[in-house]
Amino acid sequence: MPLNRRDFMKLGLGACLLPALGSSRAATLVSEEMYVFGTLVGVDVLAADSEAARAAIADVSHAFTQQNRDWHAWKPGALGDLNRALAAGRTHAVAADLLPLLHQARDLARASDGRFNPAIGKLVGLWGFHNDVLPVGGAPDATALFELVAAAPSMDDLVFDGNRVSSRNPQVQIDLGGHAKGVALNQALDRLAAHGYKNALVNLGGNLAVSGTRGDRPWRIGIRHPLGGRSDLRHPQGEGAIASLEVSGRMAVVTSGTYERYRQDGDRRYPHIIDPRSGQPATHVVSATVLHPDAARADVAATALVVAGSTAWPEVARSLGVREVMIVDEAGRVQLTPGMAAMVHFVAHPASVKIVELA
Ligand code: AMP
Ligand code: MG
Repeated sequence: MPLNRRDFMKLGLGACLLPALGSSRAATLVSEEMYVFGTLVGVDVLAADSEAARAAIADVSHAFTQQNRDWHAWKPGALGDLNRALAAGRTHAVAADLLPLLHQARDLARASDGRFNPAIGKLVGLWGFHNDVLPVGGAPDATALFELVAAAPSMDDLVFDGNRVSSRNPQVQIDLGGHAKGVALNQALDRLAAHGYKNALVNLGGNLAVSGTRGDRPWRIGIRHPLGGRSDLRHPQGEGAIASLEVSGRMAVVTSGTYERYRQDGDRRYPHIIDPRSGQPATHVVSATVLHPDAARADVAATALVVAGSTAWPEVARSLGVREVMIVDEAGRVQLTPGMAAMVHFVAHPASVKIVELA
């Protein structure tokens, strides 16, 4: 029987009723879905009292809506206010919950040696990705692209004075699209834990973070096949899966894929992940999956590794401090670290599999 997306997410987990440790009431899996961050979001909590769990999930959902507004790359909100001020050469007092994201984004951008560069908002916008509707047509004007790349906007152009931020470079426009979902995943698990739920799974459009276990078993997660995959085993988003893995404790499994958003020009696709050095979309690596306890670091690393490409990725993974990594290239060839190889179970046959030590 074909499995639907939620079945696959919980594959092998059996019925929802599980004994609750130390409780006289049976724990059940309480699940809610919502649409936020431009994607389908799912929250699963193992709880004895489903009404209280639903209230906790509603709290998380409310926070997601706020984060989506405050950290949005092109819609009005706290980040939009900062971007407007930077473009006008003004100093701006940044909202308290945005400031730590900017600090972390700057530090991780440095560690990625500029592969992850959230200061390239203008470049992402020029390619047409600052829109709910996906762009169509050929590459943007070459001169405009060249000028933006030459201006080399960087997080290091930002000047921090407490919560006051200015930019030395007027071409800096912050786009946290490659980072904010990871931060939101971390905060969602923290919020659920504060409500007393320490066994949870949060899924932001195929980027997952878990805490604890699914009762007497680990959480089982599917990794989407970037080039299709088996139709009888579905990824949470309804796509074919390439692999599954089991995780427990505090852990995130984040995947960046060039299939997610792209600009279509006839048969040609320009993906939404841009190499800041060339100004061109990254096309060689089609997906990168990173396993790390910190979902924000995993999110940044996944984006950076797509940009790094199939030769430089181990070096970038090492400097970002991620050790469990799998990448798939446009020919369906898989490269993965020994740590990731020990975790994943392939459910589709990759064109080839190579294990690469990070050293
Ligand atoms: P993700 O899906 O996490 O890989 O993030 C992709 C999003 O991050 C894009 O939609 C852009 O908004 C933004 N982005 C694109 N290229 C980069 C890059 N090289 N560094 C940082 N953010 C990027
Ligand atoms: Mg990312």
